[in-house]
Amino acid sequence: MTASLRIALVLVFAAGPLTGQQLELRFVDVGQGDAVIIRQGGKTALVDAGSSGEITLQLRGLGLDTIDLAVASHNHADHIGGMATVLTQFVVRYYLDNGVPHTTATYQRTIQAVAASGAQYLRPTARTIGLGSASLRVIPPPPGAGDQNNGSVGLLVEFGDFRTLLTGDSELPELEYWLRYDSVPRVQVVKVAHHGSWNGTSPAWVERTRPAVAVISVGARNAYGHPSAQAVSQWEAAGARVYRTDRDGSVVVFANRDGTFVVTTERAPATGTIALRGYPADAEPAARPAEGPAARACCRVCTRGRACGNTCISRSYRCRQPAGCACDARP
Ligand SMILES: [Zn+2]
Repeated sequence: MTASLRIALVLVFAAGPLTGQQLELRFVDVGQGDAVIIRQGGKTALVDAGSSGEITLQLRGLGLDTIDLAVASHNHADHIGGMATVLTQFVVRYYLDNGVPHTTATYQRTIQAVAASGAQYLRPTARTIGLGSASLRVIPPPPGAGDQNNGSVGLLVEFGDFRTLLTGDSELPELEYWLRYDSVPRVQVVKVAHHGSWNGTSPAWVERTRPAVAVISVGARNAYGHPSAQAVSQWEAAGARVYRTDRDGSVVVFANRDGTFVVTTERAPATGTIALRGYPADAEPAARPAEGPAARACCRVCTRGRACGNTCISRSYRCRQPAGCACDARP
């Protein structure tokens, strides 16, 4: 590679959207964790903030001082560890999380920073949030979810015919729930759930989303063995090109309204324009259970304990079951 070409690529990588008519998705290499910067029309969203303050350097490097929407997919430290620093150092207009409190000091620090920042807190209800001319559809966790991973809030980002799906650390029970009750469409880009763990990818999930690109946000030599070779090969077998932040560094997608997009990475040249058109009609979802125990069919209403899977347990016990049909009588 010539020096001038190398400089050109670096400039493209560091630059913002090529034009205001594009959507930029920046899967930031934050080691073992997640952080995605989404920009369109001068507006910025941050989905997860990695485990440390590293993300603030990245945001500053892009010349940003305002985050229009910050989202915590769930409250584990590898997703919100850097959030309190972001809330302290940047203007954050809206803050949305999965609505599932956690017991850690990191969570307490984050929620205190939200309160001190003046950001308006948004509950993870089914809603669509505008970001420039893109829209972010919030995919709520299953009602009554108590487990952080399976209580991740999902986001479907749409910009014209371009779509991408971000799903935090969802595991199979939550992905299964969304396939059943939500309208999960085919998308161009998927952020693979749960850092490419075996329990964040299923054949049905791959088949429904059928992306051209799958991005795995993962730290090099992490202690969890992420990503699993099986998950990677499932995406590849469906025709997706897999990017990994541990090998590729940050991965940046510039998308156009017609659904075409370009991928660049920190360590490799741009892959050129990728076209993906002609979506099959999206499968009709089953009716999603309405929020609130009164409005949905419950196999059991827990008046004294709390719902856990299909049964009720004492409030002092930790629920280890995936979300089921039991409901809490009170929040
Ligand atoms: Zn995680």
